[in-house]
Amino acid sequence: MNVNNDILFEQFKNTVDVNNPPKLLLHACCAPCSTYCLTRVLPYFDVTLYYSNDNITDSGEHAKRLAELVKLVDIVNGGQFEVQPLRKLKLVKTTLCADNFYKAAKGLEQEREGGARCTECFKLRLLETFRYAQTHGFDLFGTTLTVSPYKNSQLLNEIGLALQTDPVKWLSSDFKKHGGYLESIRLSNKYSLYRQHYCGCEFSLRQMQEIK
Ligand code: SF4
Repeated sequence: MNVNNDILFEQFKNTVDVNNPPKLLLHACCAPCSTYCLTRVLPYFDVTLYYSNDNITDSGEHAKRLAELVKLVDIVNGGQFEVQPLRKLKLVKTTLCADNFYKAAKGLEQEREGGARCTECFKLRLLETFRYAQTHGFDLFGTTLTVSPYKNSQLLNEIGLALQTDPVKWLSSDFKKHGGYLESIRLSNKYSLYRQHYCGCEFSLRQMQEIK
């Protein structure tokens, strides 16, 4: 049975004491997706973005997306963002290890975007996020991936819930609701952020080139 993760997010954020906000580690796939998600979480949580994306197999592209995320963090902390943070926005950067992704995707290279390879890709990135949250004193972990209409939010939330272990809880979300994806495009344009045209791995790049 499908769960309304947007309602779960709304219910949870309404329980938060903004004077003592929970520490949220938010896995960030890229700056454009992060824009809208940040408008939803900054007013309630002490947010740290976690850039852990071994799926972005091209190191140049990985670095480019990270640079845009750094730019977005500076915009937020410089007070130019539409929504002000409760606490300074932080960013944790991990080093690209594409081998982790290739191992997870082994045998699934021919899958289309949205198939079994993506499930393994989500598991890889959310597991990394959860482990970091667990070892660094976070209360919650979540992801910006649910803002994308190309990503299965039910699946992402199921993976996150299966990982959560006290005291680190999964932050349910479906950021594509309330026009989240279109808002992310508007905000990316407003702040002149680079928006990539493919998901991340070499297989998704190839798929995009075939369609063109
Ligand atoms: S298409 Fe995107 S989500 Fe799917 S495996 Fe590739 S990078 Fe991961």
